[in-house]
Amino acid sequence: MPRLTFLGATGTVTGSRFHLEIEGKHLLIDCGMFQGPKEIRLKNWDEFPVPPSLFDYVLLTHAHIDHSGYLPKFVREGFNGKIICTHSTAELCEVMLKDSAKIQEEDAKWANKKGFSKHSPALPLYTDEDAENALKLFQPVHYGDFFRLTENTRIKFHDSGHILGSALIDIKTQIAGKSRKILFSGDLGRPEIPVLNEPDQVYNVDYLILESTYGQRLHESTDPVSDLVEVIHRSMKRGGLLVIPAFSVGRTQTLLYLLRLLEEEGRIPSYPIFVDSPMAIEALAIFEDHIRDFDLYARMQKMAGKDIFRPKDLHICRSKEESISINQYQSGCIIISASGMVTGGRILHHLAQRLPDPRNTILLIGYQAEGTRGRTIQEKRETVKIHGKQVPIKAQIEMIDGFSGHADYNEILAWLMPFNKKPKLTFLVHGEPDASKAMAEKIKHTYDWQVKIPQFGESFELE
Ligand SMILES: [Zn+2]
Ligand SMILES: [Zn+2]
Repeated sequence: MPRLTFLGATGTVTGSRFHLEIEGKHLLIDCGMFQGPKEIRLKNWDEFPVPPSLFDYVLLTHAHIDHSGYLPKFVREGFNGKIICTHSTAELCEVMLKDSAKIQEEDAKWANKKGFSKHSPALPLYTDEDAENALKLFQPVHYGDFFRLTENTRIKFHDSGHILGSALIDIKTQIAGKSRKILFSGDLGRPEIPVLNEPDQVYNVDYLILESTYGQRLHESTDPVSDLVEVIHRSMKRGGLLVIPAFSVGRTQTLLYLLRLLEEEGRIPSYPIFVDSPMAIEALAIFEDHIRDFDLYARMQKMAGKDIFRPKDLHICRSKEESISINQYQSGCIIISASGMVTGGRILHHLAQRLPDPRNTILLIGYQAEGTRGRTIQEKRETVKIHGKQVPIKAQIEMIDGFSGHADYNEILAWLMPFNKKPKLTFLVHGEPDASKAMAEKIKHTYDWQVKIPQFGESFELE
């Protein structure tokens, strides 16, 4: 009988990794890194609960680091099977895992220089070489392809509408002579988000492993694009500039797409727009190569010859010098930089510089996890600690959560409605405890399904 064990994303939104034993094969669904506050990040250093060499396959739902970022360590510690994901995910992972390795190496170097590591010398979680070795094991597939794992088990990737290449992983198998479908939602996207397709509808699921990031929340704005236009007008009127912390992969490209569209429609003038995030720039090239994975409207514009991710006055900052040169602007421009939750990256420099000026605007467009600087800014505290200094939060703080890549609880309930039959069991993962609990209640109340919120290390036999 298949056995499913939860090795991450339990009680938290990061570290997605689920061990599925099926017909004598060991699969790991997602191989994510723990991110956020230190006590959570330290889990990346724990020994993996099962020897990595035991696994035959890693299946990746998408490229975000909380789903893929543990791979280089997993491979270094013995995994030598295949990593299966969509083509776009494989290409994005190439950029993201190498970037993640660079951050790990820089952190270790920094800790050694400052002498604040307990270990001497401090070692990186993994290196660029580890990332390279992981990249050799990728075997990409297309959405909708059948991939046979064993005699009776096949997998299939469906579009989950969360970022470019993101997938729902659908595993069909036989258990005691009966056909069974196990579905991993990964991060579930939303209907009507610019550029991305809607999440595909899946039917007849027996075991569902479902994310619950927004299990207790609804996305407030129904028209985020108009909200964006208003925020831009308000910030420019105030005589300052607009800073947008955004995930390098996904949110940044969606923003560029919208800014270009809004310019073309004459809803905003063409402002200088700086993208200051080397990874966002590399990801942009991958986005431009995979237009077929986007929604119909985006594809039509591309066919009409439009450069859909490039507003008129776009400045792409690769070098440190280019990044620093943005400092000379005091007003009338838009700066987009990572990371989205302000946990690191070039955005730190921009915020240290721009937060103390009340004429500036900081626009938050993504989920801000507990314990991150992004959350501190969202809560409009007096100061936020950046580079060891308390920076006063005087700038205007605006929020638009309508661009979120995660379905809220109503959107999840709507996606579950056509499932056709009650799953035997639904597991809620990838949520802070209150969010998962609220989502569980809603599913029980609306559909009378059996729902479990697994603990770390908890294991279940699938019948
Ligand atoms: Zn994600
Ligand atoms: Zn995630």
